Amino acid sequence: MTETYYDMDVELPSLSLFEGVTGQDKAISLLRASARNPVHAYLLMGQSGNHQRKLWRGFAAALLCPDGGCGHCEWCSRCIRGNHPDLTEMESAGAALSVEEAHQLIRLAQRTPLVAKRQVLIVPDISDAHLAAPVLLKTLEEPPGKNIFVLTASTLPQEIVTIASRCLKIELASNQSRPIAAGGNGPSITHTRQKANRIGDMDEVEGAVVAGGSAQMVTETWSSVPSKLSATGSTIAGLVDEMLLAIDNALKDVEERQDKELKEFDKSTSDLGAPNPAMRKHLTERHHRELRKERVTYIRNGLLALSREYENKLAQLNSIDTHTGTDGGSVFSAATGHAAQSAMRSYIQAIETIHETSTQLVRNPNEKLLLQALLIKLADI
Ligand SMILES: [Zn+2]
Repeated sequence: MTETYYDMDVELPSLSLFEGVTGQDKAISLLRASARNPVHAYLLMGQSGNHQRKLWRGFAAALLCPDGGCGHCEWCSRCIRGNHPDLTEMESAGAALSVEEAHQLIRLAQRTPLVAKRQVLIVPDISDAHLAAPVLLKTLEEPPGKNIFVLTASTLPQEIVTIASRCLKIELASNQSRPIAAGGNGPSITHTRQKANRIGDMDEVEGAVVAGGSAQMVTETWSSVPSKLSATGSTIAGLVDEMLLAIDNALKDVEERQDKELKEFDKSTSDLGAPNPAMRKHLTERHHRELRKERVTYIRNGLLALSREYENKLAQLNSIDTHTGTDGGSVFSAATGHAAQSAMRSYIQAIETIHETSTQLVRNPNEKLLLQALLIKLADI
């Protein structure tokens, strides 16, 4: 009996491990096929938001389940929920994996698996981990013990090319489409739309989280601001409260999910008779980062909705402008032309101010003051 024949006889990990992942059939087949005889490091290449978490958790189940990813045992479901004792998701506390976090990961890689025959170490988005990359490289070249690393990256800058070359690269299909606002296409519109789209591009949270009724409420609340805005302090304070309340409501789902995950974790560790304070701390820290990240995403989406309002006003002005041009310009007086031009400048300024606010969001966590300052400026426009 040849080895190939034997291999063909082995069942692939259950497809159910990848439930909810859409548009990634190729990556899923590669991961399932590879789980039988895994290499020591993988790199999932593609935009974040393409169900990456579900993909790596399903793959981890295939690697850690005693039956090769049966899809229904306790270990499989622990992997899918992200609380298998031998699965570590090393999400960075900062913008990118730090040197200290890379060292932490290396220390983790030295330990013996707790319950499975190996451990799986996930390092999400290493694209910006320029400083940590050299630290990780040695471990990836000579992986100690029974470790399988799964890295993810959205881009491949020069600094991480070497690391990437030590991994089996799996390309993810890009299945995210960004809606493009309808309207005119004068140069000023294109310019401001690029700015507005950049606000959206910073979105790093999985699409599924942002979808839903509460996200719709954020968009509605934030885009209604220009029509309610006046320069009085009480109006501005009231509007900012409304805007932030919509965000708080939208995040309730996330908080509930995290609460459930923590309770499940506590229950499962006590069932195992092995409380794991380090892992619990890791989980609560991840929740904290996740919540902050999603909050920032919701605020950015709100700002994007607000920006679109001014963009639409600008598009309307531009279409009037084009109209006068083709009609010979006799319909509007010179005064109207001036008014239109000054309105156009105001709208562009509004969009730029909104964009600046979006950029400041990371550095300045006092959202209330930041938004109040924004509305004061917009009321002036
Ligand atoms: Zn299983």
